[in-house]
Amino acid sequence: MKTLHTHVLGFPRIGARRELKTALEAFWRGELDEAALEAAGAALRARHWALQADAGLELVTVGDFAFYDQVASHIQLFGCEPARFGFDEAATPLTRYFAMARGERGGHTDCCAHPHAGQHSGHALDMTKWFDTNYHYLVPEFGPETAFTLAGERLLAEVAEAQALGHRVKATLIGPLTFLWLGTAREDGFDRLSLLEKLLPVYTTLLMRLKAQGVEWVQVDEPILGLDLPQEWRNAFEIAYWLLAQSGARIMLATYFSPLEENLGLACRLPVAGLHVDGVRAAHELTSVCDWLALPKVLSVGIVDGRNIWRTDLDAAIAVLKPLLDKRGELWLAPSCSLLHVPLSLANESALDPEVRSWLAFATEKLSELATLKAALRGAAAPQLVEARAAIASRARSTRVHSDAVAARVQALPGDADRRGAPFAARQVVQRARLRLPAFPTTTIGSFPQTAAIRAARAAFRRGALPLAQYQNAMRAEIAHAVARQEAIGLDVLVHGEAERNDMVEYFGEQLDGFVFTQHGWVQSYGSRCVKPPVLYGDVARPRAMTVDWAVHAQSLSARPVKGMLTGPVTILQWSFVRDDQPRALTALQIALAMRDEVADLQAGAIGIIQIDEPALREGLPLRRARWDDYLAWATRAFRITAGAARDDTQIHTHMCYAEFNDILPQIAALDADVITIETSRSDMALLDGFGKFRYPNEIGPGVYDIHSPAVPGTDAIERLLRKAAQVIPAANLWVNPDCGLKTRGWAETEAALVNMVAAARRMRA
Ligand code: GLN
Ligand code: ZN
Repeated sequence: MKTLHTHVLGFPRIGARRELKTALEAFWRGELDEAALEAAGAALRARHWALQADAGLELVTVGDFAFYDQVASHIQLFGCEPARFGFDEAATPLTRYFAMARGERGGHTDCCAHPHAGQHSGHALDMTKWFDTNYHYLVPEFGPETAFTLAGERLLAEVAEAQALGHRVKATLIGPLTFLWLGTAREDGFDRLSLLEKLLPVYTTLLMRLKAQGVEWVQVDEPILGLDLPQEWRNAFEIAYWLLAQSGARIMLATYFSPLEENLGLACRLPVAGLHVDGVRAAHELTSVCDWLALPKVLSVGIVDGRNIWRTDLDAAIAVLKPLLDKRGELWLAPSCSLLHVPLSLANESALDPEVRSWLAFATEKLSELATLKAALRGAAAPQLVEARAAIASRARSTRVHSDAVAARVQALPGDADRRGAPFAARQVVQRARLRLPAFPTTTIGSFPQTAAIRAARAAFRRGALPLAQYQNAMRAEIAHAVARQEAIGLDVLVHGEAERNDMVEYFGEQLDGFVFTQHGWVQSYGSRCVKPPVLYGDVARPRAMTVDWAVHAQSLSARPVKGMLTGPVTILQWSFVRDDQPRALTALQIALAMRDEVADLQAGAIGIIQIDEPALREGLPLRRARWDDYLAWATRAFRITAGAARDDTQIHTHMCYAEFNDILPQIAALDADVITIETSRSDMALLDGFGKFRYPNEIGPGVYDIHSPAVPGTDAIERLLRKAAQVIPAANLWVNPDCGLKTRGWAETEAALVNMVAAARRMRA
């Protein structure tokens, strides 16, 4: 008799109506006490466990819930909260937890849905991306003094809570090596790995307590096994897991997001009871893992895509699973990774196009897919299989997905479509003649404050309460207001201010063919912050101009150049759920062609400067270095194809947010944007050094003040940064601008800051 089990590595915790967000924000405002917040958390957990049990999962997963972030929860669990917080005896665990997450003053703020590690919140832990997802975790701080104790009781309490509800439990933990890897050394030269010896006994104690509490399996996540690991870290796995095995707990070692490659043998050899592998991103390794993983170890196959929202092709999945099951006699089926990265359920998506909806599976629907797979592999009747098959077939042949016109355009694309006419040096000459800007030209990144009035108008328009003409008039008035204020401030290159945009990706997605939008498809980004990514389901085309009217209106109001504002193809791709039936490179190319048309139309409308934002370029980098070149080649080409419609005298700008650029400078240079604006003020221009050493050839606007803080920078401080920049970049190539868009700021501080910025630029010219 063959044995099949289904399980999940983790489940979304925010709630169908974002109940967790509501509760957290009420708690932070002081409207909810700890007991009420705890009750809200318990209610969500109970509901999500019930969904798992109802779908036939024998074990529910406990430990994936967190009030803010699972890594922060582990910091507390292992008693390694940084000493710098200086918590007093009276501080409750929750108070300490939120202080780590939000700083003692509270609140990470950001310029868009994608946070930037910020110092403005005083003492909050840094935040950074969880592998290559859009989820952000709080970075543990480690130093020689770091000590570990089993301090948090929350996990054990949640286990008891699930058991009291009648569930059998699999607990989940971040593994010791991944936990240390994710942290940062508080001082240079400190080796986080040296803490392993101190950390392991705490894991062992915890595993023993979980076992004593009746936990049957403990899933221990070590996704770093999918990264390029230094040899010492690889070596550490053997000894660490040998020690953990002494606890007697049954460990399911979980890997995901990436193939195991050179770590495959290691992962299979470790003394654990089971191994989970990502059957979507590492499908080609399944046979090897099946061969290398000695029986009776359990193989868990992540066969359902945990990173995307498409229905699984169940027939294809069965074809993959059947031989594995035959060979092993026992198999666990799961999503590839935690379902944290997909929305909770399709149940409330009543406005979604029914055909497209039938192609999708969110977390709850993925649970049903597991049940169907299990039944089908057992040879039982699986009526859902028929429905699933029909949906897959409908998607494969839908003319809404596949457009002949788009395919023909891609086919016919000339080889030099990604090149500007003349090289930069020649373009610079004609652009300077056309634009006649002073030295150290001043500009902004695009958005101006999204005031309550702007948001109210947009909301009313969306509700149908404000007619189109009136809405357009309101936005035109906002644009006129922004233009007038920029002229009064004395900026050289103006923007229209992006009043009409809800979000820099959604705005374009809504106007392009190939995208749909959910009503409740929220995915946690960090803490209470969620994003609702567009669903890119079909070939992308641009039926009509998207930004030209607004830009031309703005330009008609001023004699100074107004910069048109677009989101680049890589960022649109990166911040959407993307189709899985063609390579990402091809989807990026289709978006690039659509955006290229917009560049051409802006240019035809006499807009002389066009900015193509690519804040997500770097975050698309694959986890494995060996795959960087391939990604960077198609990603930068997509940008260049968009920009390639520009004449030599049209100046192309791009903008990127705070990121480590040094290792991709050649590719950033290869974008060949005439001007790049980047965030550098918080690194005190240190980020610019790389550009200087590399002799970055084109013009650069290093951000001269941090827009994430309401503080108004002084003219002296800005001038000091500019002088510093001028030491590494030729002064003739320097622009003067803030770090990022201003949409989260108020007008008062924005105006004061920009006045000082313009004054600093004038001093530089003098
Ligand atoms: N143009 C956008 C803005 O100013 C850029 C935002 C971003 O970089 N995330 O808001
Ligand atoms: Zn930015």
